Amino acid sequence: MPQYSIGVDLGGTNLRAAAISREGTVISKILGRAELTHGREAVVADMVHSITQLREQCGDHELLGVGIGVPGFILIDKGVIVGSNNLPEFDHYPVRDVIEQKLGARVILENDANAAAMGEQWMGAGRGVDDLVLITLGTGIGGGIISGGKILHGVDGMAGELGHMTVVPSGNPCGCGNQGCLEKHASATAITGMARMMHLGADPTSEEVFKMATDGDEKAREIFVIMGRALGIGLATLVNIFNFPLFLLSGGPLPAWDLFAPAMLSEVKRRSFTYRNTHTRIEKATLGNEAGLFGAAYLGARIEQKA
Ligand SMILES: [Zn+2]
Repeated sequence: MPQYSIGVDLGGTNLRAAAISREGTVISKILGRAELTHGREAVVADMVHSITQLREQCGDHELLGVGIGVPGFILIDKGVIVGSNNLPEFDHYPVRDVIEQKLGARVILENDANAAAMGEQWMGAGRGVDDLVLITLGTGIGGGIISGGKILHGVDGMAGELGHMTVVPSGNPCGCGNQGCLEKHASATAITGMARMMHLGADPTSEEVFKMATDGDEKAREIFVIMGRALGIGLATLVNIFNFPLFLLSGGPLPAWDLFAPAMLSEVKRRSFTYRNTHTRIEKATLGNEAGLFGAAYLGARIEQKA
């Protein structure tokens, strides 16, 4: 058996885990449900169970470490989650240490979008690129910044919350306390919100709005143009700040690329001198919802030894 690490992605509905070799080959994968409503102990038990199963399959001695991607702010040094809407019971609970103890293996906790960015850099659209930004479009919008091949954490581990950049100064109120956040104007939730405002169908999902737009519905098409502009405003700011060669988008609304990307790119072009004068690429991520697993495994294999 080769040396490997285990990546875990704890989402709102799924708990996925994979044993991945140092070279990036998936050795084994488990898809479980994330029973977040059953309480903290049950979720921890589920994670430990999945990890143990993979370890039994792939060997005790070859395991390098475990990386876990979770939604929410992560205090990296402490290994705790704070302010996660999906995991309120985990607030300040020493989840990393508890899992380490149960497993007797090293564990690293990381924000799910940061892990996804790392995954894309390692095995996805960002291979060979040391500096990139990933924006994940979902119910909300997450972000991960890879600088010099490493996740940019900031002092507390809370950097890269790209969904809360202001893109409309007097825009929709956000749960973070701000208004006009990117995720309030460009996420899947924002798409369905606009559809409701425009009285488009009977409360359609973002996929249904996409279907209407591809069928030629003018209002539905307009929604993706508005979304594209909001993304473009956010991206122009990021391009100006970082001057990175690559900016990636992932998530559910990605199939609508042809509907929102023209508005997005023309907005970036209009607002960013850097974009107009460099070879900055803004592209689709390629690993889909596997990105977080790869990134978590990558981090699990490279946990620094405790002093
Ligand atoms: Zn916000």
